Amino acid sequence: MILPPERLARFARHIVLPELGGAGQVALAQAHVALVGCGGIGSPALQYLAAAGVGTLTLIDDDIVEASNLQRQTVFTEADLGRPKAEAAAQWVRRFDSVLTVHAQPARITAANAAGLLAGAALVLDGCDNFATRLAVSDACVKLGTPLTSAAVGRFQGQVANFAGHLPDEACYRCFVGDAFDAADCDTCAADGVLGAMVGMVGTFAALTAIRALTASKAALGDPQWGKLHLLDGLAPSLRTIRITRDAACKGCGQA
Ligand SMILES: [Zn+2]
Repeated sequence: MILPPERLARFARHIVLPELGGAGQVALAQAHVALVGCGGIGSPALQYLAAAGVGTLTLIDDDIVEASNLQRQTVFTEADLGRPKAEAAAQWVRRFDSVLTVHAQPARITAANAAGLLAGAALVLDGCDNFATRLAVSDACVKLGTPLTSAAVGRFQGQVANFAGHLPDEACYRCFVGDAFDAADCDTCAADGVLGAMVGMVGTFAALTAIRALTASKAALGDPQWGKLHLLDGLAPSLRTIRITRDAACKGCGQA
């Protein structure tokens, strides 16, 4: 694949980066990322993935845009109130870069439909708001052999990691959190509150982490750091990294 002149101009600041270069930019143009959740994490993540020229985006979210979302969900405006988030977010992408392919999926991901919704993606970026969906997404990624960028935020604590539970010796998201959260929505931010700029930092860090995985073996930046969980403390502020190891008894990847 050779990028046409107008795309070379658009991504000039990427291409001059030795860590990314033309080969990395082509890898991004050929990539297909499925985003789970177009909310506080998903909005900035999809903006930076679209800005980075990720060629195909599938946006999955069954919510509609509410007034309380506008404090942090940066792709939406007052004109989007009442619209399905997946469709409003897809319209943002189309207006931003008409060359990109974008699919809106206004559906709720469950264990039953996750693999079908995520099939075909080179990477899944999960920024949804509940554990049950996260675990369904993780299990589907292991089954499909698809890398997963997982991002979450609670108050001023953020977590971002790349998982490759389909690979030997690498952990999946379920290895990290276990099975206790399959049933319930445990971590909605409605009760706890959340600062918009904090989820923005986590969302853009998730986009950077996804780009590392998408450019693996194509660019120097392409070190996915599988199983390294980056913990962002927005109050200190600070960043530290821990290693998640594979759980041999994991229901998600133990049989893989
Ligand atoms: Zn696992």
